[in-house]
Amino acid sequence: MAVSDIDRLIQLLAKLPGLGPRSARRAALQLLKKRDSLMQPLAKALLEAAANVRQCTQCGNLDTADPCALCADPRRDAALICVVADVADLWALERSGTYRGRYHVLGGTLSALDGIGPEQLDVAGLVRRAGVAGVREVILAIGATVDGQTTAHYLADRLAGLGVAVSRLAHGVPVGGELDYLDDGTLMAALKARRPV
Ligand SMILES: [Zn+2]
Repeated sequence: MAVSDIDRLIQLLAKLPGLGPRSARRAALQLLKKRDSLMQPLAKALLEAAANVRQCTQCGNLDTADPCALCADPRRDAALICVVADVADLWALERSGTYRGRYHVLGGTLSALDGIGPEQLDVAGLVRRAGVAGVREVILAIGATVDGQTTAHYLADRLAGLGVAVSRLAHGVPVGGELDYLDDGTLMAALKARRPV
């Protein structure tokens, strides 16, 4: 392998969240040392995920199947839709193991600063799903930051009149992908003590 190949590997690894140049160099070295047991299987897994993982057309989750395994699971309560900003938030809620309804991934939060309006998020899909007969409650599991609150108020307005209850997680939770940092107990308590918007 030429030096430039190694540099390219390090540069790509350094783009991963949580990996700066130093950890990228360490990761690259580890991969090169464990070519058969780590690097090749990782390369294979990356190619397979890139080819097979897609966004669920119903909820926005990532899965190899569409609808995703969560949407297709008949044991999950279709009357509940939990709205999250990011798939990482969905994963966090799933890890906590308390929620047994469906999800809706918005794809971010409204942000005047970043120019993110309702058209950039899957708001239309949420309104469509919430209007389907049998849906009882939409739970907004969106962060308590300014953008998160703006988003929650906007969604509550859009959902008003559909005949569904709209609630929010009880505790202030961080925004976009950062439910992930809450421990499962906190998340569980926030979900159980959710309050109407
Ligand atoms: Zn789905």
